[in-house]
Amino acid sequence: MKNKVIALSLSGLMVVGGFVSAPNYVGAVGEGPNYGGNESIQTSILHTYNELVENLKTQDAKQKDMELEVIGQTVKGRDIYLAKYISNPNNPTILFLTQQHGNEQLTTEGALEFIKHLGTNKMKGVLDHVNILIVPMLNADGAMGDVNFSLDDYVADGGRHLTRYNAVGVDLNRDHVAKIHPETQALHNNVLQKYKINYMIDLHHQGTQSEIDGKYVSGSILYPTNRNVKPEVLERSKKLGAVVFNAINSKGWGNIGKYNGGSEETIGRNGAAVQYDISTLLFEMRGMSDHNYESYALGQKSNGYLIQQTITTLDAATRAIADGSIENVDTSFWNTLPTQTTRPSGEETE
Ligand SMILES: [Zn+2]
Repeated sequence: MKNKVIALSLSGLMVVGGFVSAPNYVGAVGEGPNYGGNESIQTSILHTYNELVENLKTQDAKQKDMELEVIGQTVKGRDIYLAKYISNPNNPTILFLTQQHGNEQLTTEGALEFIKHLGTNKMKGVLDHVNILIVPMLNADGAMGDVNFSLDDYVADGGRHLTRYNAVGVDLNRDHVAKIHPETQALHNNVLQKYKINYMIDLHHQGTQSEIDGKYVSGSILYPTNRNVKPEVLERSKKLGAVVFNAINSKGWGNIGKYNGGSEETIGRNGAAVQYDISTLLFEMRGMSDHNYESYALGQKSNGYLIQQTITTLDAATRAIADGSIENVDTSFWNTLPTQTTRPSGEETE
């Protein structure tokens, strides 16, 4: 049912049998609707946690290359899932992580589509040369609004609210040093420490008002910025960013800026790079699924291109690692990529 609704919202992007680039979305970024109090945000079109689990189990049953594993439980006892594609332990490995922040769900919608995509002929041969780990919806309690604090002032409709924080009000993307919370522990103990991971993309959403050159961004990216990251880890992070930048910017609707993020090791992008020498990329897409600040939530007319932006990102990174082309990509764009600013003054935080 939910797949159907999402498929409808993507109808402008699809042809029978697969995704194509979407010239009809040109301008969607600059003109993409904000919430503004006029357009309702229906969280009911998003997968619930239970629907996500059902979806993962269905794909697991269908796909011989996929393995589904429970890596731990949230504060409220929800199983946290890892979808694994490991054809050869010696292959380079990439981890895609979504929804450390529960109110940033379109990245998870994109990841679910990508998982489906991995079971089709379009990815034939690719999986022989790259291992893929996907942790969708790390913060399932926040995503379901099942938290020990009030969300009454959040703006979305649709039967549930989604919040950034875990059930006890903690920002999981600041817990990557102390690792106090069960969601962070599951990720570190049973994924980051357990596999030899070369690359990670940490997928987020930010507010709606970020811009470069006077035009709203579809998202902004950043490599690890902690000074203890090894130079070679940083260089590979920049290459990963270049692969994503090139893939998104070739779409009519893509407009990518440089994110202005912190250097603290407590942030996943930095912590994974410092602690495990993983080359990381933060991708902050435009607009959250719900928030108590109206300017942070994005109307759902933009859902299609944001989900497609996630799929494009995951697909491009996977292919570039599998065929080795990531090694030769030009990273000089980072020197001229404009750092995003916020219109009007406001705060963005990964
Ligand atoms: Zn976030």
